[in-house]
Amino acid sequence: MTFHDFNFDERLAEGLDSMNYQKPTPIQEQAIPLILEGHDLIACAQTGTGKTAAYILPVVHRMIRGDHRHLNTLIIAPTRELAQQIDQQIEGFAYFTGVSSIPVYGGGDGATWEQQKRALEQGADIIIATPGRLIALLASGTIDLTHLQHLILDEADRMLDMGFYDDIVKIISYLPKKRQTLLFSATMPPKIRQLTSKILHEPKEVNI
Ligand code: AMP
Repeated sequence: MTFHDFNFDERLAEGLDSMNYQKPTPIQEQAIPLILEGHDLIACAQTGTGKTAAYILPVVHRMIRGDHRHLNTLIIAPTRELAQQIDQQIEGFAYFTGVSSIPVYGGGDGATWEQQKRALEQGADIIIATPGRLIALLASGTIDLTHLQHLILDEADRMLDMGFYDDIVKIISYLPKKRQTLLFSATMPPKIRQLTSKILHEPKEVNI
């Protein structure tokens, strides 16, 4: 199997070629068709398996084939480093599509807060956020996620280990109920199961 078998939009396929991606990894082979079909998904996958591309590619494809882009997708990640890495991968794949992304995270000084607010005001299609900073932006009215179509939780078990369960549930209260939700986690402890039953709708499941 190659990436051509997914029939991605040609602008996205061009980005994949430019990054030298040819053969999907097992998580990509299993998750991409389910996401393209619009299912909610629970994916048990470690870092290094290609999990990031497994959700970015089908979500960007759906976004550019659909009619709605602005603030279409929210990715929640545990750390600033991971948020930045995800943002860089999106920039690579989406280079020819015109889709834009912004990472927002805490821990910076006041300048970072102002810079992130300004960048958000200018608009983006995809936001990659750490939970604490996202709550602050939602509470201050800087982000309006009422038109969101895709929610992705990356490294969900790590976010719960860091004590973000309540923050995540609160963030989700700001989102439209009708959306596609994808949860990626290296492990599936009971607390993750509890979260999935709360926030996913008839999810499919893949295990690597
Ligand atoms: P991740 O598990 O998403 O952190 O990805 C691990 C690394 O593998 C990243 O550097 C990706 O760019 C790379 N990668 C993911 N999928 C593929 C693929 N199908 N072909 C080549 N490299 C890949």
